[in-house]
Amino acid sequence: MKRTIKDFDLDGKKVIIRCDLNVPIKDGIISDDTRIRASLRSIRYIIDNGGTAIILSHLGKIKEENDLEKNNLYPVSVRLSELLGVKVKFSNETRGDNLSNMVNSLNKGEVLLIQNTRYEDLDCKKESSCDMDLASYWASLGDIFINDAYGTCHRCHASNVGVGKLLPNGIGFLVMEEVSKLDSIMNEDSHPFVVIMGGAKVSDKIKVIDNLITKCDKLIIGGGMAYTFLKSKGYNIGTSLLDNESIDFCQDMLDRYGDKIILPIDTVVSNSMDSNDYRVCNIDDIHDNEMGLDIGPSSISLFIDNLKDAKRVIMNGPMGLFENDNYSKGTKAIYDYIVNNNIKCLVGGGDSVSSINKLSDSSKFYHVSTGGGATLEYLEGKILPGIGVINEK
Ligand code: AMP
Repeated sequence: MKRTIKDFDLDGKKVIIRCDLNVPIKDGIISDDTRIRASLRSIRYIIDNGGTAIILSHLGKIKEENDLEKNNLYPVSVRLSELLGVKVKFSNETRGDNLSNMVNSLNKGEVLLIQNTRYEDLDCKKESSCDMDLASYWASLGDIFINDAYGTCHRCHASNVGVGKLLPNGIGFLVMEEVSKLDSIMNEDSHPFVVIMGGAKVSDKIKVIDNLITKCDKLIIGGGMAYTFLKSKGYNIGTSLLDNESIDFCQDMLDRYGDKIILPIDTVVSNSMDSNDYRVCNIDDIHDNEMGLDIGPSSISLFIDNLKDAKRVIMNGPMGLFENDNYSKGTKAIYDYIVNNNIKCLVGGGDSVSSINKLSDSSKFYHVSTGGGATLEYLEGKILPGIGVINEK
């Protein structure tokens, strides 16, 4: 078990907390503050327990001078102050005497947000390459390090792994929740264990399939990635999404695990992604100029049949082009079945959250993971560097 924020006596301590405050900002206006709200619990816990919170976060990507102003974290400090009900101080500098002086003058219960950690990337990618001089400077500002930025746990950066190596460390409430839910669904010994994969490309998910295929009882495949599997079985897939370089992988998976893998038997096809003309056809009846954009009604029934006795489910990726209402029925039907039957289901990895938000209710699922890339790498069986750096209890 990893050490957590609750394992420390925070009274009188300066706590460096890595949050994920990477919110969408246009012209200084935050359009979605979900990530700020999600970070409140750990920040509040620090100040309510007599600590001082010194927050590190990235915002967007910094490749050139022009990227600086649009990725300025200042508006986040204003919104964070409103949500916390505590004035959040802001340091426009990511290192130097001014920042050190600000930190030294902080009192118990105060909160300081440091400018975007990726401002340091302008200087030879110091943040993103985990420069240890930079990490030592940030570590020198505090007594304890808490990692609460789940979405960047798959990155080895100075502000998470670097600082984590140098201070007594633990995970915050957000990372705790993600890790405990992921560990629970992956490691508990209940069966049938069903994995549902969808989304765009097979190549993005080869390692996830490789890791989960030996653990699960059934692997249901929908979405764009199903067509590469179908192609490898010899079907004409018209102009559907095809990952040429993954055909051999699909073939190999079907040869070795064909009894576990469930593929669509019908599909909703159209001549283009934007067209409103579509038809349902069997999987062996796709015309050369047609692309499959959703699973058809018989596939929905087949997939549901294979979910019937499931004790736990991991779902990664939608069953079709859900952004278009014509092609969202398959994804919605699967979500509805899971929710209505109280199946223990973790959804996450890649872009799954937006399809849940559009078609279902995330509170009805066992867990909807917030970290696209981090969750994908967790499902690949990797130890995430941002979690690996945290000591065991
Ligand atoms: P991912 O991030 O890999 O989970 O992919 C999500 C994206 O896959 C969404 O934007 C979907 O619209 C897209 N997608 C799912 N099924 C299809 C399909 N049959 N054809 C094209 N795109 C699809």
